[in-house]
This record gives sequence, structure tokens and C-alpha cells, in this order.
Amino acid sequence: MAIDFSVEPEFQEQLDWIREFVDTEAVPLDLAFGGEAGIYDKSHPVHAEVIRPLQEKVKDRGLWACHLGADLGGLGYGQTKLALMNEILGRSGWASSLFGCQAPDSGNAEIIAHYGTEAQKEMYLAPLLDGKISSCYSMTEPQGGADPNVFTCRATREGDEWVIDGEKWFSSNLRWAKFAIVMAVSNPDVPIYQGASMFLVPTDSPGLEILRHTGMAHEPVGHGGHAYVRYNKVRVPKENLLGGEGQAFKIAQTRLGGGRLHHAMRTVGSVRRLLDMMAERAVSRETKGSLLADKQGVQEMLGRTWLDLQQFRLLVLHAAWTVDQVGGAAARAEIAAVKVATPQVYTDAAYRCMRLHGALGISNEMPIAGMWLGGAALGLADGPTEVHMTTLAKHVLKNVEASKTGWPSEHLPERREAARKRFAHLLEHEVGNA
Ligand SMILES: Cc1cc2nc3c(=O)[nH]c(=O)nc-3n(C[C@H](O)[C@H](O)[C@H](O)COP(=O)(O)OP(=O)(O)OC[C@H]3O[C@@H](n4cnc5c(N)ncnc54)[C@H](O)[C@@H]3O)c2cc1C
Repeated sequence: MAIDFSVEPEFQEQLDWIREFVDTEAVPLDLAFGGEAGIYDKSHPVHAEVIRPLQEKVKDRGLWACHLGADLGGLGYGQTKLALMNEILGRSGWASSLFGCQAPDSGNAEIIAHYGTEAQKEMYLAPLLDGKISSCYSMTEPQGGADPNVFTCRATREGDEWVIDGEKWFSSNLRWAKFAIVMAVSNPDVPIYQGASMFLVPTDSPGLEILRHTGMAHEPVGHGGHAYVRYNKVRVPKENLLGGEGQAFKIAQTRLGGGRLHHAMRTVGSVRRLLDMMAERAVSRETKGSLLADKQGVQEMLGRTWLDLQQFRLLVLHAAWTVDQVGGAAARAEIAAVKVATPQVYTDAAYRCMRLHGALGISNEMPIAGMWLGGAALGLADGPTEVHMTTLAKHVLKNVEASKTGWPSEHLPERREAARKRFAHLLEHEVGNA
């Protein structure tokens, strides 16, 4: 099948519009308001005065919340087009919220659209899709994130209610969210993959206690957006169960496929920005009598980053195209590969970019060190790289048989022997001539 990443001229026009809009409207928001707090805190006046009118423009253009498939009330663009869009959105931290596809709200919207009841959709999905509220995804626990077998947060049914009891960690944006989607063990007598369920928990529920606001390395202690939270016997009506009992992991899987590709393509946009910064620095800075651009070591960094970027972009586009052809479930290996490559390409590019900028690069007067940390975070959020590498390795090993002879099947003496037998009559002739 021919692989084709081209888009029709009408969509290219949309992409051109998005690029202009991101540069003129989203990037200044990054500069004026910074990151998470402003983006997720919908009570901040910037949302009413600036963000909502900009979101209306995006809606008028038919580009709002494009990640939702046509069957879920979205535009059904497919992953390849979404990837091309996200590549542009990756140039700005605020851009995704202007386009209604800000993580984790985009993934949360996707699973409520997919598994929610009509009442849940009305109460949680509608305001979320409308950009009026923020949400949180509360799964990781302090004692472990990569291995759900260690999760202990429990949900117990009492009459018409579920009672949630336990701790969660790194629940991003909980402090600004109107509700959290909480994963809890609802049946401890079966393996966690069948015994965990998802619950819609309003953040003003009695018993929901944020123990700490954990932040990233550069943020002051107590000021981050990642909550360490305790659900102290938090009660929700039985109607707040999302999907069926025991379906938490099935639901989680729905949430992650497309989201990972979008993170990756936004990373393409970020790495391109890093390469632009590197190139400008290389032709602007002189040392020891020549431009940085003339030094072989610097040329190596520039060429390597360009190569990484091209390879990575094609990897992501190919994964998106594969999802469009065969669906997310059949493209697990491609998605895992993208998830593994994302933090590597991002942190490598950011590190090189920092080096080229010297002390300025590592300072808080350039965005580079923050981007470096953002790249590292992408190697943990949605699961650590090693776990996705295991998925990839399983794909490689699928249907591979062990050697029957004890020697590798490429072992030359055996292969040569078999080949020589086949051509014995000619080899004898050759020997005879010698
Ligand atoms: C910026 C950011 C935002 C996040 N937002 C959220 C959120 O909104 N909601 C939420 O629930 N969680 C969130 N997380 C948490 C994230 O999902 C976890 O950090 C991740 O699942 C890893 O769990 P852990 O930190 O407990 O590390 P651990 O599970 O303790 O793993 C530590 C390390 O051990 C190694 N390791 C683990 N498992 C394996 C394995 N099978 N094979 C080989 N090596 C392995 C890896 O090197 C891994 O990094 C966020 C994390 C970050 C960094």
C-alpha cells in the first residue's frame, strides 16, 4: 500500500491558518502568562477576556477539539491530519487549549465520549469540550505508577454509592480541575487488570484532600500542578462509575493511543523550534576567530539534530498513518516506538541547544532548560520508556522460533555446508579446473 502523508489543498490552508494563529495569538500567551496555572485555572480573567474569543475563532474555522472521531461527535480528521496539526501546536504551550485539545482534558473527553452515559456526558463532557472546566486523571500512586499491581486505592460499594479510599500521586492539574477520573480497585479478589474501575469524582467532594502540590524541578516547593491527593472515604453516586465495573484498563487504553501520537507530534514542533534556535546561535556567535557554525563539533550537533528530527517526524507520521489504516489496537508497536523515541529525541535536541547557548542556554532567560525537563517528563508521563520498549520487544519477538540446532540459523558453517551440497557438481568442476 502506498504511504501517503499529503493532505488536500483545503486542509493545507487550515494548517497555514493554524501556524499564523499560533504565532500571533498563542505564543504571546506563553510569554505573558507562562505555563500550567494560567492554562488550567479557568477562573483566571484571561480565560473570559482573551481565551474564549480566540477559541470562538478556532470553532468558526472548524478546528475545535479535532481529536474526537466522527463517531464521538468530532470531525473525524484521522490521526495523520491530527499529527500535522499538533506539529504546529507544539510551538506553544497555550496552543492546545485554544484548539480544545489540551492534555489531560483531551484524553478524558475521549473516554467520557466513548464510555460515558448520557447523564455523564451532559454533566462532565459538555463543559469540558466547551473549554469551560479543567479535569484531572488520577491513576498513579505514591508507591508505584508503572506497575498497577501495587495500587491500593480502593472503591467499595455501599448502597447506592461508591466509597473511594486511598492516595494518588502526580494527579496533574487536580487543583484547578472540576472533576477527576480516578482509577481504584473495586474488586481485590481478581487480578488488577480485571478488578479496577474508573470513577468520575467532583473535586469539591467531601474527603478529597490535596496533601501537597508537587512541582517540577524548577518550581518552588509547594507550588506545582501535580497533586499528591488523599481520597478520604470520598463518596460518589453509583452513577459516577465510568464504563463497567472492572473496565479501568480497557478504558485507559482507549485514552492513550492517539494522545501519545499527539504528544509526539507536538514534540516534533518543539524540536524544530530548538533547531531554529541552534541555527540562529551558530551563525550569530563568534569564538576563537570564527562563527560557531564553522566549527566541526557544532556542525555535528546541527546535522545530528536535523537527522533526528526528520527520522522522528517520519516515524510519527507513519504511526499516525498506520492507525488510520488498521486502527490503534493493531498499531501498538508503532505507537510504542513513538513513545520511546519522543523523550530521547526531545532531550537530545534540548541538550545540544543548551550547549550552543552556553550559560545563557541553561539560564532562566531562555526556554531551553525547561524544554529539556519537559522532554524528560515525556519519558515518564503515560508510562516510562522501559515499559514501552518491552511492548516493542514483544512485537519483535512475536512468532520468532528458537533455533532447533543450538546454532543460530545464520551460522555460516552450517549454511555454507547446505549451499555447497546444493551446488556440489559445480564446485567439483571449479576445483577440477583449479
Ligand atoms: C509531568 C508528569 C505528569 C504526570 N501526570 C500524571 C497524571 O496526570 N495522572 C497520573 O495518574 N499520573 C501522572 N504522572 C505519573 C506517571 O504516569 C508515572 O510517573 C509513571 O507511570 C511512572 O511511575 P513512577 O513515577 O511511580 O515510577 P516507577 O513505576 O517507580 O518507575 C521508576 C523507573 O523504574 C523503571 N521501570 C519501571 N517499570 C519498569 C519495567 N517494567 N521495566 C524496566 N524498567 C522499569 C523505569 O526507569 C522507571 O522510570 C505524571 C508524571 C509526570 C512526570
